[in-house]
Amino acid sequence: MQASVDWNSEQDLINTLALPSRARRVLTARNADDVLEGVALARREGLSVLPLGQGSNVVLPERLEQAVFVSNDVSIQVLDERRGSVSIRVGAGVGWHALVTQSVANGWFGLENLALIPGTVGAAPVQNIGAYGVELSAFVSAVHGVDLEDVVKRSLTINECEFAYRDSVFKNALRDRFMITAVDFVLLRQAQVNLSYPVLANRFTGDACVSPQAVCDAVVEIRQSRLPDPAVAPNAGSFFKNPVVDAPAYEALRAAYPALPGFLQPDGSYKLPAAWLIETAGLRGFTMGTAGMAEQHALVLVNLGGAVQGDVLALAEFVKEQVSSRFKVALEIEPRVYG
Ligand code: FAD
Ligand code: NAP
Repeated sequence: MQASVDWNSEQDLINTLALPSRARRVLTARNADDVLEGVALARREGLSVLPLGQGSNVVLPERLEQAVFVSNDVSIQVLDERRGSVSIRVGAGVGWHALVTQSVANGWFGLENLALIPGTVGAAPVQNIGAYGVELSAFVSAVHGVDLEDVVKRSLTINECEFAYRDSVFKNALRDRFMITAVDFVLLRQAQVNLSYPVLANRFTGDACVSPQAVCDAVVEIRQSRLPDPAVAPNAGSFFKNPVVDAPAYEALRAAYPALPGFLQPDGSYKLPAAWLIETAGLRGFTMGTAGMAEQHALVLVNLGGAVQGDVLALAEFVKEQVSSRFKVALEIEPRVYG
């Protein structure tokens, strides 16, 4: 039988770390039916399936003996519009930043703090993307896709997504098991800006009324000034998660390092900025062969040119060892490492 889907062999994979990587098969899916057909093709060839987006949160090996599935559904559909809110269904292939800018322009509010985060809408629920005090989960109402094991279409409610800080069911029970094809959002029709992060609030000191468009623009400006652009210095954003320690461990660290910032969590633990730990360990701008920790932002690991996965992981290991020996705090890599 002739496949009706786009089923290609030996394709190079784009990724913002610019690591050389090639997959045995790549399927470009227009919708959930294409995914179902692709799973059948993959099974026939004995390949497991790996959903990918724009490769901005992955550390890829040179070779993936898998069938990589990407979505090219760029539809945005209004499901329901009321006085206070609008419900939309967005295809997994829509670029995240494009959704944010289009939403703000349409008067659909809430996502503005998440401007300029790279990647696709389909990947956004996976790590429950967040920035400047806002998380995706606040605006998602359902996630649609295909269960790759049972080979059925399935829709998950917000509770079933098990969203947490940079975490979800798609990183845990449904890891490698669910291809997201569309996401439903409920956005606000009345502005309700979130200026809880001082770096953002400081931009608007004295302003009585701050519009979502102004917040979106400010986030873009702040990010462009603080973060290395992957097109210029290939990177995967924050390379390590912010570690969370219990209160006694935080107090002990503060006694030794009074300048250590710490953010109290609802459960009484403290979130520590990994960037501060790396910088204080003297590793901002540190290079090891073809990889380095960015001079511009200590938490961002950059490919200096010609790095492969092993080079990136060797540097990450060194950074983890240095931070652990100095602060007795374990860093964990944030992007997904394959292979
Ligand atoms: P990929 O990197 O391709 O994939 C990431 C993971 O999602 C993989 O495990 C993959 O299997 C899975 N996945 C992808 N698509 C699907 C799908 N359709 N169905 C099921 N699983 C899928 N993240 C933040 O949270 N906040 C930030 O502020 C932020 N800033 C960043 C800044 C820079 C410069 C960079 C490079 C990254 C940043 N990130 C940030 C990380 C990244 O942008 C997000 O994690 C983004 O959601 C990844 O999207 P992607 O399409 O590139 O996914
Ligand atoms: P920043 O403003 O310099 O702050 C450093 C860290 O302190 C951040 O990681 C942030 O945690 C935490 N923080 C700051 N103010 C806080 C507050 N009021 N309450 C709780 N925590 C606070 O951070 P940045 O590196 O320039 O990044 C800005 C935002 O973009 C952050 O939200 C960050 O997560 C996000 N970002 C994420 C990635 C990624 O790849 N995941 C890459 C770039 C930027 P949080 O990280 O928990 O917000």
